Amino acid sequence: MSLTARPGHAVVTGGSSGIGLAIAKALAAGGLRVTILGRNRARLDAAVRVLGPDAAALTCDVTDESEVARAFAEAGARGPVQILVNNAGAVETASLAATTPDVWRRMLDVNATSAFLCQQQVLPAMREAGFGRIVNIASTAAVRGYAYVAAYVAAKHALLGLTRATAAEVVTWGITVNAVCPGYTDTPLVARSVERIAEKTGRTVDQARAALAASNPQGRLVRPDEVAAAVRWLVSAEAASVTGQALVISGGEVM
Ligand code: NAD
Repeated sequence: MSLTARPGHAVVTGGSSGIGLAIAKALAAGGLRVTILGRNRARLDAAVRVLGPDAAALTCDVTDESEVARAFAEAGARGPVQILVNNAGAVETASLAATTPDVWRRMLDVNATSAFLCQQQVLPAMREAGFGRIVNIASTAAVRGYAYVAAYVAAKHALLGLTRATAAEVVTWGITVNAVCPGYTDTPLVARSVERIAEKTGRTVDQARAALAASNPQGRLVRPDEVAAAVRWLVSAEAASVTGQALVISGGEVM
């Protein structure tokens, strides 16, 4: 499988941990110049050491419009961005009754508005070049509902809506826009969820983790490298006719 025909530059948001780091590794291994964005300098530097000499990291809170503009100006100085992976995201759990407007806005900001802001930065140059790939890391929560995470579910549905609308609008520009929708994946985000579940329910951490794994018909958590492999395919030359799609990676969980 060939990654993009031309020497490519990929930006991965939230690229210093979990799924984002796995994606950055897969793209770097495919010969792409990779720039990761994130908020924690030490974690970013550690990731760049793993990614190799052609990788770079920029601090950026992707919910902040001016920080996003600054980061993409700096990223652009390393070469035009052909590939954007909007991976940064976060989950806060609360019953509907306990979901405050602040929780709601935080979830929309980090999981949906961030992708809107980042894609606005790259689309003009992609259009001019006649080539681009955008992959949004959504979730199974983009295609079905789950209890106690209404704001996250709404935000991931919004991200999938943005994906589909953008794909339709840029379809003749040589740009594809797709969403990848993982089920529970073995990352720090899920480790934090497991700890919260154990705390709230009195189960052990192992029991809480097993309960999440049980929601996957394969009886296990998805691996970050499995999500990364899907992204790698979506940005490849072979996936040029795939756009506006939601690719679910969840061991067959029924949507
Ligand atoms: P993670 O917490 O390891 O990674 C998320 C990354 O995004 C972190 O590096 C975090 O610092 C960064 N981030 C968060 N807010 C940010 C901000 N405002 N600005 C910049 N960076 C920010 O978790 P992960 O599981 O690897 O999650 C990656 C993506 O995958 C998220 O969008 C998440 O919603 C999605 N996802 C995860 C799972 C799962 O089970 N782990 C399932 C479905 C979807």
